[in-house]
Amino acid sequence: MTINLEDVKAELDEIDQNLISSFNILSGVDSEKYSGCINLAEIGIEICGKPAILTVGFPKNFPNEIPKFYDSNNLFGDIPHKLANGFLCFTRNESLLIDERYPASILLNCLEKVIKLIEDGVKGENKEDYVKEFEVYWPSILTIYAHIDTTVLTVRELNLWNMKVDKKHLLVAAEKVGLLDDTINNIFGLDVGKATKYRCIYLPLNEGAFILPPVNKKWSFADLKGNIFSNLSEESKKEFNRIVNRPVKGVHPIFEYVIVGLANSNGSVSLFGCGIDGNIINLKSLKKKGKVKKQIHPFVIKPKEANLYPATIKRWHPEYIINRTGGNRNLKDKHILIAGLGSVGSEVAMRFAKAGVKKLTLVDFDYMAFENVHRHALGIDQVFLATDEIFLERPKVWGLKAEINRKYPFTEVEVHLKSIFTIMDEVNISKNDIDLIVIAIGSPNSEMRINKKLLGLPDPPPTIYTWVEPLGIGGHTLVTLNGEKEGCYQCLFKTNEELPIYNRSAFAQPGQDFSKSITGCGSVFTPYNFLDSERSAMLTVETGIKVLIGKLNGNPLLSWKGEDSLFKEYGYKTTIRYTFSSEALNERKYSYKRNDCSVCSNEGVDMHRQ
Ligand SMILES: [Zn+2]
Repeated sequence: MTINLEDVKAELDEIDQNLISSFNILSGVDSEKYSGCINLAEIGIEICGKPAILTVGFPKNFPNEIPKFYDSNNLFGDIPHKLANGFLCFTRNESLLIDERYPASILLNCLEKVIKLIEDGVKGENKEDYVKEFEVYWPSILTIYAHIDTTVLTVRELNLWNMKVDKKHLLVAAEKVGLLDDTINNIFGLDVGKATKYRCIYLPLNEGAFILPPVNKKWSFADLKGNIFSNLSEESKKEFNRIVNRPVKGVHPIFEYVIVGLANSNGSVSLFGCGIDGNIINLKSLKKKGKVKKQIHPFVIKPKEANLYPATIKRWHPEYIINRTGGNRNLKDKHILIAGLGSVGSEVAMRFAKAGVKKLTLVDFDYMAFENVHRHALGIDQVFLATDEIFLERPKVWGLKAEINRKYPFTEVEVHLKSIFTIMDEVNISKNDIDLIVIAIGSPNSEMRINKKLLGLPDPPPTIYTWVEPLGIGGHTLVTLNGEKEGCYQCLFKTNEELPIYNRSAFAQPGQDFSKSITGCGSVFTPYNFLDSERSAMLTVETGIKVLIGKLNGNPLLSWKGEDSLFKEYGYKTTIRYTFSSEALNERKYSYKRNDCSVCSNEGVDMHRQ
């Protein structure tokens, strides 16, 4: 449906409003200037008490799409949120609820915001927005994909590579830290060994620096240099000089690049970049006979004019991407050890990597097999390590390392194709080095041994045990060693001489055999659906993050309850604990602890020793 502007005009006349004093429908739309609009009108309004004219562009889908406003006659000069073509950027579509029955009301709602924006601009009240939105105004001939830690405020050199891909220039910049070559190849398909390298200097401006972006007029070389150097501290200028006076190696002199950081009052940093024509001059050398070539930075040589190639900066530093996309920045220095990388453990590992932890240590001696594929974080491409020269079954920990490196390259992954017991003998486990341990082995006997061993250490990290129950009836996550000793894996088991040992947290009654009847004698795994392991993994990661950021009290036993229809169908029986509601289970999350526990309770230990 395309709306008739005459109808809008008629509606405006009918309703009681005093924002629009005149409404003139224009004929013919310059589709370049008013992109996306099919109708135009000039409206009479008031700005700071004075009459003014705005151009309104109506998109094809108006009123489902909001109108666009232009200061076509440049009545208001350079104000924030106004682009070179006069377009006034007053909102994002998605933040406005639209009632399509009243097109004129939509126009008026938007106009109110536009008038506020213009008046703030004219009075100079939103000057700061220029800095906040600097990147919007910065013209862009190039795009530089930059790995810059903007929390580091020193002037420094970055690596910058250029590669021509499909007739376009791919520019990738990165901090000179660590080995990023593989990551760059993985993300951009760029082989840094084959790319052309240029000098690139990152210049973070002084806190509180204010620069007017180039709204209507391009910056000259003098503008660029002046705006940068008038906002650099003496120390930064010295550092810049140190960098440009260093002999250059392996960089092409034809272009120089600078990336500038402009801090906003809200703590974020706007970035803009520029390529500049480079300079080579011949110097007389006393040592070597004849002349040597020297690459002089254009900011040093003071050319009257040099060509500028403004560049948009797209960031890929983890400090930025994790912050921006919901990952938790408090996790960036955390190290987690995960033992058992089966269906639950593999999902736990992938999710902690997604959360942006610093390091994962993965411990498991098992190999991928085809029957794992549909209940594991790894897929069929990770069953074998297969190339022209090699063909072998892939250990689960190798596959996960490859998968995490590919998807979340900023999380370091250390792998051990060993049993956790070997690791506990070889490595000094302490919370000075490891922030959290997750045990997802799913074997009560192993977990009891691990629990006992960890509780005997001088400084054990918080440790979470996680496992699932058969046929979708539920799963459990037990936190231990989270700031206190009381409450441990052993507490779940009652040693009663009349009964065989069983897990008191269980939803399935003890003494039932789940492996044989469903999978036959050949298999030993407990059957469950992949969603069950993912649910347990999610509960574990959520709980683990709370432990890591200090938002979890003590050592709770957390359980999720699934439905029991399939379970019952096979004739199995649930425990009384399964009949508790989720709320009741949550209320009792600390009541599994036992005063007479042989591992975590002083009383229990004493009794044991006597
Ligand atoms: Zn205990």
